[in-house]
Amino acid sequence: MIDSHSHTFYSKHATGSVDELVRASIEAGVSILTITDHAPFPVDMNNRLLASELDRYFADIQQARTTYDGRITILQGLEFDYMPGAEAFTRDLLARYPLDFAIGSCHYVEMPGEPMVKVWELPRLSTEAFLDCYFANLEGLISCGLFDSVGHADTLLRGLPEDVFLHRFEPLLALLAQSGMAFELNTSGLRKSSLTPFTRQEVQGLWSYPSKQLLPQLIAHRVPFTIGSDTHAPEDAGAGVAELMRVLRPLGLERISYYQSRRRVDVDIDTLQPEDTSTILKQGAAQP
Ligand SMILES: [Zn+2]
Ligand SMILES: [Zn+2]
Repeated sequence: MIDSHSHTFYSKHATGSVDELVRASIEAGVSILTITDHAPFPVDMNNRLLASELDRYFADIQQARTTYDGRITILQGLEFDYMPGAEAFTRDLLARYPLDFAIGSCHYVEMPGEPMVKVWELPRLSTEAFLDCYFANLEGLISCGLFDSVGHADTLLRGLPEDVFLHRFEPLLALLAQSGMAFELNTSGLRKSSLTPFTRQEVQGLWSYPSKQLLPQLIAHRVPFTIGSDTHAPEDAGAGVAELMRVLRPLGLERISYYQSRRRVDVDIDTLQPEDTSTILKQGAAQP
């Protein structure tokens, strides 16, 4: 199992150390794990790595690589925020640390004359003004050439009908294909709340994202896919990855990619079998 999006306590709103996340991922059957804590950014600084913590973050990942060598592949990544004007800041960060994988995500959207929208403020996601700004930012994220994969672009489906999302996303398909970036299938949409279509009440248990209707169009444009649990706690390690691949395989999903040293590696999903976790746990018990 591949999990290319995960967080530890370095993101501040997530729990668990690097070591705890890696142990839980092994137990969940993950064989290739990319740790992608939120990169330093001037906005919402209490919910991310500080620049002063980066050396320790990468050292923890290196330590885990040594400790769990032979049992799991651990890759080092970051989830970057994208906002217009932030390119130079991010480019500088990318130049200073050798990453395996860089996710670019839009979490915050500046709105003229309004407080900044956070993409988890569900009732605010459906106004035309917000959608104009969000999709302009997404276009900037795809065009800037800094990232390997666009993170949870369809998270808006927590508060937006799918046809509205598709109408807005379709003009970006050719640009995305041309960029060579991957589109992230983020399984946290299986766990997070969303607004019901008619009553607009916030409920749990509805599949919001990833967009099943967008998938065939992405495949037709030969856009590669990464997949990630976006876990924010060790107990959610690998959550939803196997389930999502089971659902998306009949819809035409054939390959999943991950990134090593910023290079894409494609994997045929028919070769990905859920690991026999009992065997892994036995191996784990034999380790000091
Ligand atoms: Zn995110
Ligand atoms: Zn994340």
